[in-house]
This record gives sequence, structure tokens and C-alpha cells, in this order.
Amino acid sequence: MNTDTTSKSTTNGGTAGDTAGQPRACLLCGQCTAVCPAFLTTGQEELSPRAKHLVFAALRDEPGRLGLKPARELADRCLSCGRCAAICPQGLSVPQALAALRAKHPNWQQWLWKQWIEHGRLLWPALAQMTRVVPGAVVPEGVQHMLRSAAAMLPPPPPAPWIVADRATSDSLRDGDGPDGMRNHTAGSATRGEAARPPAMLFAGCTARRIRPRWRDTARALLRWLGHPAPAQGDEDSFTCCGSTLEHAGIPDAAAAARARNLDAWRAAGRPLLVTFCATCHHGLSEYPGHADLDWQAGERKAWAAALRPLSTLWGDAAFRVTADAPAQPEADAPAPVRYHQPCHRKGTDPDAVWLRSLLGSRMRAPGGVNCCGMGGVLQLAAPDLSRTVADACWNALLPERAAASIPASTSPSTASSAAPATASTPDAPAATANTAPQPNITVLTGCSGCTLQLAATAPPNVRVLHWLDVVGVPHG
Ligand code: SF4
Ligand code: SF4
Repeated sequence: MNTDTTSKSTTNGGTAGDTAGQPRACLLCGQCTAVCPAFLTTGQEELSPRAKHLVFAALRDEPGRLGLKPARELADRCLSCGRCAAICPQGLSVPQALAALRAKHPNWQQWLWKQWIEHGRLLWPALAQMTRVVPGAVVPEGVQHMLRSAAAMLPPPPPAPWIVADRATSDSLRDGDGPDGMRNHTAGSATRGEAARPPAMLFAGCTARRIRPRWRDTARALLRWLGHPAPAQGDEDSFTCCGSTLEHAGIPDAAAAARARNLDAWRAAGRPLLVTFCATCHHGLSEYPGHADLDWQAGERKAWAAALRPLSTLWGDAAFRVTADAPAQPEADAPAPVRYHQPCHRKGTDPDAVWLRSLLGSRMRAPGGVNCCGMGGVLQLAAPDLSRTVADACWNALLPERAAASIPASTSPSTASSAAPATASTPDAPAATANTAPQPNITVLTGCSGCTLQLAATAPPNVRVLHWLDVVGVPHG
């Protein structure tokens, strides 16, 4: 199974993937336009990656040719999903080029985003609580959008588990596995199973640490149940933000400091397995070996890459069972009660989706094609209208019954001035709509913290959004 989510692009912070520092030229081949949600949902060529690279090249070659303000306004309209970088034959990365541009021209958005990330422990729950008492009608639309996002931070009531850890035999990943030979193999012993597994450290990420501790607790319980002991030394609480959001927001110093702290925490723990349950955190951590600002020791880059594992790739032959609390198998032709959203940062095969499908069968449907939730990091602040348009298209893919009953994109105010590209009318790339009709009870599962919050903030009525950890139960003892 391919779980490599590392971008093909380099991390030289420029507009191109040339390790010698000389930007490569965009070939105008158009491959990126087939995967860019900003383009697919609006049909606006100027939002496509190739158009952005033309802007970057113009700014680089003739800094005075384009006004910086309009250039930045255009360039800001990016979801930082990284889909273009993964497919571009030249290794061009819009998020990296934007990060460099934003870093050169910091303004209030970067400052606000920095506060949002660095002081989230206080700010996020406070904002979430505020949504309970602030009447939405008295605040401007832009702020209302932020408040809706904040409201999504309130954890939903925990559902009764649909999936229960049933048996762990722990013999598929024994102590000593892995190509690096740098892990701490001396700590602790497995709590279950006949063979000990290597020590594992959980990288929970900002969202779980601050507002969804249940995800972290369930993931920790799963690791122990599988037989992965905690490292004898080190502390998971030493981890901080993975840094990718800070990097893309144009705050490279803060991003570099976060990366250094995380690397130190992993070293202090004896370089154990580093386990994630958020696709965006995983993607950010997977890019660490490309960062020259980290003081890597010999062989450590390889050890980091080998240690980094999505939680759902560690099951081995552990068994899970679906409980009576899970949605029932639908009748023939009836809509699936569970939908799965594949995060943009989970490129290639998504191990979460593979595992859930093997358990839930026809209960779960996952749309193919390009479906971005519209989160986009700093985009939420820079271009909330684009964020909402992309989110709406994502919902139409998740809920085709909604798309069939909704307003055509050509009459939607947000897209009326744009001719949609041919790809936007295909099943894989639905056009944006503006329907808010009540939906049947449907649960959307995903494997990314940011996607969970964004989808929860934009979900139609009667649709709930959960991280898959929300529906997993682990036996005590
Ligand atoms: S895929 Fe790369 S080279 Fe091709 S048009 Fe897009 S940015 Fe240019
Ligand atoms: S990062 Fe995503 S939204 Fe931004 S230009 Fe690339 S594909 Fe488009």
C-alpha cells in the first residue's frame, strides 16, 4: 500500500523544484489544472497553479511589472492542498512559492494566523464557547464565517462506538523492524499480544491537543492495545505544531522553530515510531527531511521517514468488529449512511479509507476525484468566499442527492460570472451550488483534523462530521 504523502517538490522555498536554486519554468502543460480545487470549482483560469506560476515568474523577473497588492490578492487564493506540487513534472509548488511571497510581505493576516496557531490553547476553546452566546445576526458575514468555524470546534457528543478493537496478536511488526536501526528497543513491554512491538510516540497535532483530546486518548489506547509501548524517555507533550501551516502562512521562523522542537522531542524519546492520525500533520512531518534548517545527524533523515507512520497502517493482523451501534447496511439502491472524505494531504491510497471500507462495506461511500474541504489554512482569512465555494462543491460530491436537487452553478451568485471548465461538470468534479435543503441522517468520516473542523462548519442540516477515531472503541485493560 502506498502511504507516501511526501510531495515531489523540493522545499527550497522558491517557485520551482530545482535543487540548484534555479527555478524551473512552467511548461504550461496543464496537468495541475486537472487537480486544483480552486480552479475546478470556479472555472477561473487565473486561480489555476499555472496562472499563479506565471504571476510568480513575472514578479521574479520584473518586480515592478505587476502591482504587488493585486498579485498577492490573486496568489492568496490557494487552498495549500499541495495537489499541484504532487503532479507537476517540473516540481513546481504553489504553496511553497506562496509561503516565500508571504514571508517577504508579512501583514495582519500572518500575524493573526500566528496568534491563532501559537495561542490556540486559549483562543480556540474561547472562540468556540463564544459562539454559544454571540447572536449570529449581529455580526458581519466575514466574522460569522469565522464563528461558524469556531462553533465546529465544540466537540460533538461522543457516539457509541461503531468499531471495536477485538483482538491484537501483535506479530506483524516486531521489535527491531524498520530499516533505520536507530529506535529505542529497550522500553517497556507490550500490553497485549504475544510479541512486543517497537515503542511508539503519538504526534497528536494542534487540534487534538487543544479541542479534541478524545482523538488523542483513543489513538494512545489503540497503540497500547496493539502492543506498542510508550518510549521509556521523552514526552509526547513536547511536540508542538508540525509547522506546515505556519510555513504556508509565511511565518518561516516560527515554522522552523516548531520543526526543531519536534525533532528534538523525537530524539529525546529515542527515535521511536512516530504515529499520526491527521493527514495534514503527517504530510507536514513527511517534509522534514527536505528542510536543511534542521540539524540532522547522519542517517537521521532516513530514520525519520521510516519512523513516520499513519496509525491505520499499524493494525497488522489485529481484528476489529463492527458493533450494533453502527449504521445498518443500506437496502439495495438506498443511499449509504456513511460517507468518507479523503483529505487532500492523503495522496495516493488512503489507508484510513481502505481500513474503514473493509469494515463498513456498503455502509460507506467515498466519492472519487478532486474534493477539497476548502479549509486552506490562511485562505480562511484571505479569501473566505473561495473557501466556501470549494466547500460547497465538496459537499455536492459527498452528497450527490444534494447536488441533484440544488441550484446549478451557473445561477449561483458566487460563480455566475465564471464559465465552468469541462471538468467541473463531471461526477468527479461537481460544480458549486447553494442548496441548504435538509438532508437525511448521514455521517461523514475523515482522517484529517482540519478537514473535520471545516466540514463540520459547513455541513448541511442533519449531517454530522467525525474523525474516524470518534467511532472507534478500545477495550480497557
Ligand atoms: S503541472 Fe507544472 S509545468 Fe504543468 S502547467 Fe502546471 S505548474 Fe506548469
Ligand atoms: S495548492 Fe491546491 S489550491 Fe493551491 S494552486 Fe495548488 S492545487 Fe490549486
